Amino acid sequence: MSTIIPAKGVFINNRWQPSSSGKTIAMIAPATGKVFGEIARGTAADIDAAVAAARHAFEKGAWGKLTATERGRLLTNFGRVIEKHAEELALLEATDTGKPMKQARADVTAVSRYFEYYGGAADKVHGDTIPFLNGYLVNTLYEPVGVTAHIIPWNYPGQMFGRSVAAALAMGNATVVKPAEEACQVPMRLAELCAEAGFPEGAVNVVPGLGEEAGAALSSHRGVDFISFTGSPEVGTLIQIAAAKNHIGCTLELGGKSPQIVFGDADLAAAVQSVAGAIVQNAGQTCSAGSRVLVERRIWDRFLTDLSQRFSQIRAGTPAMDLDLGPVISAGQKGRIGAMLARAETAGARILARGQIAAGAPGTGYYVTPTIYHEVDPASELAREEVFGPILAAMPFDSEEEAIRLANGTDFGLVAGVWSGDCSRAIRVARKVRAGQLFVNGYGAGGGIELPFGGMKKSGHGREKGFEALYEFGAMKTLIIKHD
Ligand code: ADP
Repeated sequence: MSTIIPAKGVFINNRWQPSSSGKTIAMIAPATGKVFGEIARGTAADIDAAVAAARHAFEKGAWGKLTATERGRLLTNFGRVIEKHAEELALLEATDTGKPMKQARADVTAVSRYFEYYGGAADKVHGDTIPFLNGYLVNTLYEPVGVTAHIIPWNYPGQMFGRSVAAALAMGNATVVKPAEEACQVPMRLAELCAEAGFPEGAVNVVPGLGEEAGAALSSHRGVDFISFTGSPEVGTLIQIAAAKNHIGCTLELGGKSPQIVFGDADLAAAVQSVAGAIVQNAGQTCSAGSRVLVERRIWDRFLTDLSQRFSQIRAGTPAMDLDLGPVISAGQKGRIGAMLARAETAGARILARGQIAAGAPGTGYYVTPTIYHEVDPASELAREEVFGPILAAMPFDSEEEAIRLANGTDFGLVAGVWSGDCSRAIRVARKVRAGQLFVNGYGAGGGIELPFGGMKKSGHGREKGFEALYEFGAMKTLIIKHD
């Protein structure tokens, strides 16, 4: 993109309006390190206006009056609108995040699927009839909570908007989105397209801005009824404190250090492909990235030889080069990864294999060479903390018990994969690993619109995706009717 994308303002009541700050934030393309646009720096006053618009839409506006079927139809149709704009959205996403075009296209397809899925679900959420005392009829009802806040990260701006906002809208909530300041072009464009597609005023509001400013104002706003947050554990703590102060609920999805456990009797060729793919996807900047591989010692040499061979073919480049991965999001993130790897090497971790940065990738971009480390001490930072880059830590194990202990040996618990030809063992191990999603003989970093997703332990709580997310964005009422 040659011209600079100008700041549009804040999107409230289906219109772009100037931010009360009058200030902007420069947007940098990670693939080149160059400024490609600006966004408005939303303020607490902008958040006030957005929450008021959402409240009005929910309580008095056209949005709150729609039936579940009408809402569903709007959402489903919006899925088609996204498909029509797929190439434009993919290009924006790729410029904003640096990811390869094929991945940006797949992301846009997923956004469309979220709207299609939740469109179909909107009129299928219903309660129960509960047997009670004679002379009573008792029903449970699911109702929207009201105004939902969506604080989303930069790794999958489009997908995060889809997964969180589509589910909240399907339940009938009015939404306020604070996308990440590092990458937010697609959420802003999607809000515009929502208006064009016929969503009534105030249903979808987007306030770009800084986390500690617009984000903090949104999470602590007394007019918000529920917060959906995806991001770092540190900010997740702040969000939970803010939610607690207003006595509202929140879902927190806070990342992971997800293991893939490979037993000697597994289909090793399939495991090699999957283990490599699960850490380089999105340059490792996926909450559910498979960032640890635990390998049974009797196949350690063979497996790591094959994995190294696969890794050596992996290449990072610009979105247009469309290779295996792009850069990481920012200079800051690249520096943080570099510092962490320097500490790991000092602590004894050794490089086993590396991919490459393609020759044509600009030196000013934020490329990180995909790397596998071995001899990683299970107690070390590299084995326990999220790198959020294309860095894999390989560790051997001797027994099923040791594999489970290592898998559970971090504070996180988001996703895990178990590879084994022994079905009973795979299930037994999967059930003992503490994680919100468990794959057997496969791994889907980030995949599965239909599949409930969320963490245990420091990975957070609550579930997004699938039908389960609808209940998070709904309030259950119990209606007790006495009759003769
Ligand atoms: P990361 O470290 O991956 O950038 P963050 O947790 O910092 O993740 O950011 C995730 C989202 O949370 C972004 O939209 C960011 O602007 C927002 N955010 C950051 N700090 C705060 C805060 N203090 N209060 C509310 N939101 C915040």
